[in-house]
Amino acid sequence: MTCFFAYTFKTNIEIMKFTVISPEIYTYGAMLVAGILKDRGYDVTIKNRLSARPKDTVMLSLYSTQHLMSDAIKDFISEHRKNGGTVFIGGPVSAYPEIVAGELNPDATLIGEGEETVPLVAEYGISDKIPGIAYIRKDGELRITEPAIPASINRPTPLIPADITKQSIRGASAYIETHRGCTGACTFCQVPRYFGREIRSRDLDDILKEVREFKKRGARRLSVSGGTGSLYQYKDGKIDEDSFIELLKGMAKIMGPKNVSSPDIRVDCISDKILDAIRDYTIGWVFFGLESGSDDILRHMGKGAGVKEASEAVERCREHGLKVAGSFIVGHPMETEDDFNKTKDFISEHFLDDVFVSIAEPIPKTPLADLVLKTPREKNPTYIPHEGEYRSLKLTESEARSFDLQMHADMYKPNLHVVTDEIFNTYLSGVRKDGNEVRAATDLLFKYYG
Ligand code: SF4
Repeated sequence: MTCFFAYTFKTNIEIMKFTVISPEIYTYGAMLVAGILKDRGYDVTIKNRLSARPKDTVMLSLYSTQHLMSDAIKDFISEHRKNGGTVFIGGPVSAYPEIVAGELNPDATLIGEGEETVPLVAEYGISDKIPGIAYIRKDGELRITEPAIPASINRPTPLIPADITKQSIRGASAYIETHRGCTGACTFCQVPRYFGREIRSRDLDDILKEVREFKKRGARRLSVSGGTGSLYQYKDGKIDEDSFIELLKGMAKIMGPKNVSSPDIRVDCISDKILDAIRDYTIGWVFFGLESGSDDILRHMGKGAGVKEASEAVERCREHGLKVAGSFIVGHPMETEDDFNKTKDFISEHFLDDVFVSIAEPIPKTPLADLVLKTPREKNPTYIPHEGEYRSLKLTESEARSFDLQMHADMYKPNLHVVTDEIFNTYLSGVRKDGNEVRAATDLLFKYYG
């Protein structure tokens, strides 16, 4: 570290005022970065819309590939820089800095976990000596510095905005971070590539101090995030049931059990004690990433658990009095009609309490993106025109499967659901929007890596 400070230089930019922005929702990562800057004595504002004080240094935290194609974001960055401000971009999109630089042209991208990089850039400006940044040099070349070391899991309290009380992400005011990383290797997911496959867990006391702070600032419900909740304090290949239970119990004591959720969980990371704790200390739902009812597709997706494990997990949750939601992905390049029908069968057999369907999106630098890059467009269901039952709706194959699965799932929910014209049209416009977004993300992928 001594060496680093000896060789870096201060820029002529006086960086004292920061605006941290995460568009539409206050992400935990944005609140955390804002908290770190505040702790270092900077004047920090946090926003969920694109506005900043003139000449502020903006930390734009972007969590979706769609943000890279947003005209509103492009215009904001260009305008802010033109007016003498500085813009740094961080968040999950920083994993592909070439696209960020090419599409949005910020002053720099802070790659990966930004907690250590942000204060260095704030203090010293953009420098080759700062690890984990990417910026365009005067000669037009994109310079990517050496990777930053993984950030410490112990840090100051996030900066919680005053209007956190109005935020609802699947019913929660915020998803707080209890641990980082995921032991899984799902081919479509960025988590293990961004945070690693080793689990780094925070101290329970720190988490509960933060929960109290969120409550004080008006948060109504908090959710446990971190890829899959029950991996909290996972060590040496073992789930630590007791630590996970203590975590939920502690959160419930502060927030009340009806204001805690621990939804995201892997089908192979449950036990009777864990399910009882979810029932007793949370709103009583689990959310499984089920993805497909076909073992072949689950294997292609690297899920690490098959249909049998998924079926057993759903039934086990029911035995413990829990409600079960499942998410499914359609339009994987290897998904056949037969695979898709197996997914429909899974849904009709299990009467899930809620179902979420999405079209496979190739996030850059994931194995799914590599597969999509190798798949000719005429064989990718995201581009193939649908010729079956919904032909008159002019959908692609992926869109038609998503539409069909949502309608099918409604028929098999435990409570009676009638598909009205309004619901039909909502599903239809939703799948068209998803289809357009996934195609735009795929086109972007080919533009940079094809
Ligand atoms: S289990 Fe969840 S967080 Fe982990 S790699 Fe799979 S999808 Fe990602």
